[in-house]
Amino acid sequence: MRISSWVMQQPGQPMLKTARDESAGAGEVLVRVAGCGVCHTDLSFFYDGVPTRHSLPLTLGHEVSGTVVEAGPGAETWMNRDVIVPAVMPCGQCDACWAGRGSICPKQVFPGNDLDGGFGTHLRVPAAGLCPVPDLANQGRNAAKVDLETLSVIADAVSTPYQAVLRSGLAKGDLAVFVGVGGVGGFGVQIAAAMGATVVAVDVSQDRLDSLKTFGVSLALRPDQLEAKALRQGLRDFAKQQGVPSFRHKIFETSGTVAGQATAFSLLGPGGYLSVVGFTPKPVEIRLSNLMAFDAIAEGNWGCLPEHYPAVVELVLGGRVAMAPFIEKRPLSAINQTFEDIRDHKVPGRVVLVPEH
Ligand SMILES: [Zn+2]
Ligand SMILES: [Zn+2]
Repeated sequence: MRISSWVMQQPGQPMLKTARDESAGAGEVLVRVAGCGVCHTDLSFFYDGVPTRHSLPLTLGHEVSGTVVEAGPGAETWMNRDVIVPAVMPCGQCDACWAGRGSICPKQVFPGNDLDGGFGTHLRVPAAGLCPVPDLANQGRNAAKVDLETLSVIADAVSTPYQAVLRSGLAKGDLAVFVGVGGVGGFGVQIAAAMGATVVAVDVSQDRLDSLKTFGVSLALRPDQLEAKALRQGLRDFAKQQGVPSFRHKIFETSGTVAGQATAFSLLGPGGYLSVVGFTPKPVEIRLSNLMAFDAIAEGNWGCLPEHYPAVVELVLGGRVAMAPFIEKRPLSAINQTFEDIRDHKVPGRVVLVPEH
């Protein structure tokens, strides 16, 4: 099939629309892209010189939804189905996968990193791990109205904080703190609230904090206006006032900035849990011994196992995690301008690029 995509040639150089032939091999499908979300990881590849695992030129984009339009041998049952393509697709057949650690599968496929990604009309991916999307037109009266384009963002910005929350063991009545409530953190807030946690949002942007007021945030804190000590005290006072225990708080670093990582680490207290969800290539200075002194845990989180995706779709279609207010759709042809706008912090929400088929 003749397809086209926007190809990154060199870091920082405008991506070029390029045509090529693709066909689905054994166990693979060709997905006609409905939408592809733009993630900060794409910007790290494009602007910061973070190397993609596949050499350039390469099409970026790993938050993809669409429809299977060609299925290779063994993948026929996927034909014509609407799907979300997970950002991390483990092979399912290696030691890591068998141990339930598909996130570190050495043979994992990460679209827009290991192979051409979703900033195009179509992309070719393995069928194993695809998340089927239920019939969106027939979800019943009480279901949230969400279109397939919007659901693309599940493939990372929603599913990644979901896995981080699962791993943290977050339970009803716990205190969850999200440092950085842009794309990923904003969805994390809603997921934690849906699981019954009391949620604190920490961000330097008042607009971002305000946008989440009616989406599960019980307390908003500004680390740029409070000294680190006052921030910790604010958190402790709030926990006390809410009747939440003063220990075992779950802190989620979702800013992917040096300042955010330092703030998140500073909020760790007795028995605390720190989940590192955001990414920055820059080092951060912390007192690692706090982990020992507080008997605390710090853990990273890479993507989300495909087996968790259906539960995330259910949270969204059930109206417990709102996506539409946090999404801006733009035509795929605006990709270069969009990357610049996101880099320059001109876009408040997550951008979904929609190809002009
Ligand atoms: Zn991403
Ligand atoms: Zn594997």
